[in-house]
Amino acid sequence: TSFAHFSFDEQLMHIIRKSEYTQPTPIQCQGVPIALSGRDMIGIAKTGSGKTAAFIWPMLVHIMDQKELEPGEGPIAVIVCPTRELCQQIHAECKRFGKAYSLRSVAVYGGGSMWEQAKALQEGAEIVVCTPGRLIDHVKKKATSLQRVTYLVFDEADRMFDMGFEYQVRSIASHVRPDRQTLLFSATFRKKIERLARDILMDPIRVVQ
Ligand code: AMP
Repeated sequence: TSFAHFSFDEQLMHIIRKSEYTQPTPIQCQGVPIALSGRDMIGIAKTGSGKTAAFIWPMLVHIMDQKELEPGEGPIAVIVCPTRELCQQIHAECKRFGKAYSLRSVAVYGGGSMWEQAKALQEGAEIVVCTPGRLIDHVKKKATSLQRVTYLVFDEADRMFDMGFEYQVRSIASHVRPDRQTLLFSATFRKKIERLARDILMDPIRVVQ
C-alpha cells in the first residue's frame, strides 16, 4: 500500500510528504481505510508502530466533513490517553497534521494549569487531547462540552486500566453521543480490554499490528 491508496487530499498529502514518510506502516495500511469508512476499530499496536497517525489522519477527514454538517461549539474529536507526555506528543502531531486544514488542538492533562487549559478550551478547538480525569474535571466545570464529539479515540487503553482510569474511561464514553465513531488502541488485548471494547464500541473491526 502507498499513501495514494488513502485518497487524502493535496493539503494533507503535502504535510505527509514533508514528514518524509516513504510508505504507510502496517497499522496504517490496515487501520486507515477502516477508520475512514466510519467503522469502530480496535487496534492492537505498540508505540513505534505509527498508530498515532493511523487515527489522526482519518480524524482530520472526519472533522472536515462533520464541521460542515454541524457547525457549532466544542470539539468534534477527543483523544484520551494515559499520561501527560503522551498527551503532549499526540497534541503535537495533531497540530502538525491539523495545519492542513487550520484545525485547532488543545491538550488538557493532570498536572497542568486548570485555568490555562480552560482558557484554551474556551477559545475553541476541533480536537481535544486529554488524560481521562482532567477532561472530566473540565466538563464538570463547563469549560468544554462533549455534545459535538463524534470521533472518540482511546489510546493505550491497557495502560489507562493499569493506572486505575477504568471508571473515568467508561464515564467519558457514556457522556459522548452514541452515534459516534470510536477507536480503541491497546498494546495487549486482555480480558478487561475485551470487555471494555464490547461495552463502548459498536461492531468493531480488529486490527493487529
Ligand atoms: P507512533 O507509533 O504513533 O508513536 O509513531 C512512532 C514514530 O513513527 C513517530 O515518530 C512518527 O512520526 C513516525 N511515523 C509515523 N508514521 C510513519 C510512516 N508511515 N513512516 C515513517 N515513520 C512514521
